Amino acid sequence: METSTEDGAPPDAAVDASVKTAMESATETVPTAIPPASLSPSRASDFMQCPLLYRFRVIDRLPEKPSEAATRGTLVHAVLERLFDAPAAERTAPRAKSLIPGQWDRLRETRPEVLELFADDPQGERLARWLGEAERLVERWFTLEDPSRLEPAERELFVEAELESGLRLRGIIDRVDVAPTGEVRIVDYKTGKAPRPEYSEGALFQMKFYALVVWRLKNVVPRRLQLVYLGSGEVLTYDPVLADLERIERKLLALWEAIRRATETGDWRPRPTKLCGWCDHQAHCPEFGGTPPPYPLPLPRRDTAAAGEGA
Ligand code: SF4
Repeated sequence: METSTEDGAPPDAAVDASVKTAMESATETVPTAIPPASLSPSRASDFMQCPLLYRFRVIDRLPEKPSEAATRGTLVHAVLERLFDAPAAERTAPRAKSLIPGQWDRLRETRPEVLELFADDPQGERLARWLGEAERLVERWFTLEDPSRLEPAERELFVEAELESGLRLRGIIDRVDVAPTGEVRIVDYKTGKAPRPEYSEGALFQMKFYALVVWRLKNVVPRRLQLVYLGSGEVLTYDPVLADLERIERKLLALWEAIRRATETGDWRPRPTKLCGWCDHQAHCPEFGGTPPPYPLPLPRRDTAAAGEGA
């Protein structure tokens, strides 16, 4: 797992999780604590990174501050999605860049908390630099793919499938392309840099998760999984086979069992890593001298005391 960056920016895994969290939150309307009922790639990654982080995000639903990197990711995703509204011949880099101000206005309307990001920037200099970086990411996309030659079958597709065990998997796929032969390609945009080869398995986890959902929904194994890294101008592809999807299903079932046990016992262990530096919840984390909020779900009587200690 990538744990740090040279320039002090949040690592791409943290940015990706925040971008997907913002997209997924738009589909959720659950204001109070209830036991988790489904799993998304972002939340599965949270649990693997730190069970206590998962608890704070999924069960306590503690608020998190927007970050410049994650908000820029959300903005760029919106621009790439909306560009396909235009006729193929008009899907140019200047056209895409011209969508940025409108999509930024829309983001401020739908998520007013992003205004905090530039509250201390009265001259707008930092905002201008930030928007300039969003432009560069959008421009770079045109060196990696040619949207005038693509006709996505789906964009920002919400998918949900129930496994035989009852586990519901859900997520949002940035783009689905379907060839005339019926072959399916799942595409995800990343505004960060491509991972080093030894970390590519972590990056592909999310894509295999989506492939499993598509397989379970449509009974089709996607032909290709494609990660488009706008930060470094690279494309990572993987052609899954059925055994990959069966393996990821087993992994998710084991993960879900661990989540179910923690939910029942209230035993959510912190797992500190360098990623803690980008965690919004240090004030509630015992690793940093904090105390978690009272556990909001019912606990078996004998476990109540242990839960307070464990978290
Ligand atoms: S600060 Fe680190 S250990 Fe604590 S909840 Fe956040 S990610 Fe987990």
